[in-house]
Amino acid sequence: MSDHYYSFSALRPLLASQKITVTEVVKQLLQDTQRQKELNAFVNVYDQEIIEGAPVVNQKIKQGKSGPLAGMVIGLKDMIAYKNHPLHAGSKILTNYISPFDATVTQRLLAADALIIGHQNCDEFGMGSSSENAYFGTVLNPLDKTRVAGGSSGGSAAAVKAKMCHVSIGTDTGGSVRQPAAFCGLVGLKPSYGRVSRHGLVAYASSFDTAGIFSHTVEDCATILEVIAGPDAFDDTAATQEVPRYTTALDNPGRYKVACLAETLDNGGLQPEIKEHTLHALELLKKEGHQVDDVHFALLKYALPTYYILVNAEASTNLARFDGIRYGYRSSHATTLEEVYIKTRTEGFAKEVKKRIMLGSFVLSASQCETHYIKALKVRNVIKKAMQDILSQYDFIILPTTTATAFKVNSFANNPLSMYWSDLYTVLASVAGLPAISLPNGVDQKNLPIGIQVIGNYFEEAKLLTFARHFETIVK
Ligand code: GLN
Repeated sequence: MSDHYYSFSALRPLLASQKITVTEVVKQLLQDTQRQKELNAFVNVYDQEIIEGAPVVNQKIKQGKSGPLAGMVIGLKDMIAYKNHPLHAGSKILTNYISPFDATVTQRLLAADALIIGHQNCDEFGMGSSSENAYFGTVLNPLDKTRVAGGSSGGSAAAVKAKMCHVSIGTDTGGSVRQPAAFCGLVGLKPSYGRVSRHGLVAYASSFDTAGIFSHTVEDCATILEVIAGPDAFDDTAATQEVPRYTTALDNPGRYKVACLAETLDNGGLQPEIKEHTLHALELLKKEGHQVDDVHFALLKYALPTYYILVNAEASTNLARFDGIRYGYRSSHATTLEEVYIKTRTEGFAKEVKKRIMLGSFVLSASQCETHYIKALKVRNVIKKAMQDILSQYDFIILPTTTATAFKVNSFANNPLSMYWSDLYTVLASVAGLPAISLPNGVDQKNLPIGIQVIGNYFEEAKLLTFARHFETIVK
């Protein structure tokens, strides 16, 4: 497929000069979506709507009255509300649920004239690293259909990689944008916590949840962030800080000081090719005149347990609202109110979600709270401070995105807990609430993409994206 379906920045001038129409673009993407159905990337495709919407956008372009995303086709993870459209969060418990409102992200995309192609498959409530915990079935990796696309936003990554849409919006609580981006060879951005409103995102762990972006290029990622970032009256945790023009400074990188976390490379569990490619990228950065230092981060091993204690605690309270009364599915076998709760939740949630609700309730229980939940909150602060210390001396922290490339479907079927290790390197930025981006960094011997992760300081997405764009040009 030609390049303009791949990047929106390449498409925009063609649309402006009417060399191609929005309808042509939409039809091509829908055809490719239909053709690659077996990837299971989408839960719902809104084909009629975008076929009808395309000429309207095209007319606006012709009249010079179009928004910044006119002609861009975007997919939404099945965790992001779109008014009058189904929203399942990958769960049986939300079957038949139709959202009565738009998420702020959705509303801003539509106001910028983007077209929304559909909702994308994911792990139930965003809990997982492979999109295998999905009520609508496993998402396959477009680069190797025997492998997963990552998770939890696996459908969003697969759809962009397979050129079904230009960009996807996912959610990243502990890596769910960055890890699938790495597994599929894409750019995946998790902005700072609070940079993008969470209003209308299905809550998993509210103090971690962040809307994130999948794209082929850093430029497209910057274009989207410019539209969706910013304060929001519906979300008090959305930062009031001004949103810079992320797209304008992209091509003027400075000379940066970069900290490479030594413990992430000296890890016996790290796939050797990932180590090699990371070291190679660091060498290229040095050649470009950047300072790259090894920095020790002994706290790395605490990040994963801290993350899983806190997100399970938050999930157990967030998911209490799914009781068979207010939303979606209700068991038809219940005869008393108590049975409505119990049977609805027993039948509506799958195994992983139930496990996390139980673990979360356990760590919040009176006898465990101090030793588990409160302790994890304290460790979170220690990790945050240590990361801030590094970022007071360095512009960026670099580490691999994952310890291994995309794994085979069912790899963890007998030991689901060990899948948590896949999040070892992504949870760090999540625990600290820092912005982080995963960038393609070559492929392994099986031709599977390798991701490299760059973490920036709070609300310094402009600098992070400029560096990422620079990285994109030097590491092919
Ligand atoms: N894999 C991690 C988890 O299961 C991250 C998920 C996410 O970011 N939504 O919690």
